[in-house]
Amino acid sequence: MIAKKKQTKRVEEFTPNEQRAARSERIAVAEAEPYGWMARSEAEPEYKYHLFRDPETKHLACTCADFVFRGNAEPGYECKHVSAVLKHIARWYLSFEYDPQRQHARAA
Ligand SMILES: [Zn+2]
Repeated sequence: MIAKKKQTKRVEEFTPNEQRAARSERIAVAEAEPYGWMARSEAEPEYKYHLFRDPETKHLACTCADFVFRGNAEPGYECKHVSAVLKHIARWYLSFEYDPQRQHARAA
């Protein structure tokens, strides 16, 4: 008997949040002055959005229309720019900040 190859989920079956996370792969991110990050608009590459850590929630906030209009209505909402910046921060952290010794000390 031949084992049937596991079917990959079709894109239409992904939740809106999963679709935004997938689209974030195409978004370029850079550090912003004096703080935060800039994410390039997917539709208009010459346009950039500013992302920063909300001092109250400690989550990322974005200046795009998606985030401004839906972000406040849905707690924990992540637009594709937030998703892109989270990955950028994670890669940066792994390259420059991550310290296995510190993690080990905390676990002990
Ligand atoms: Zn956004």
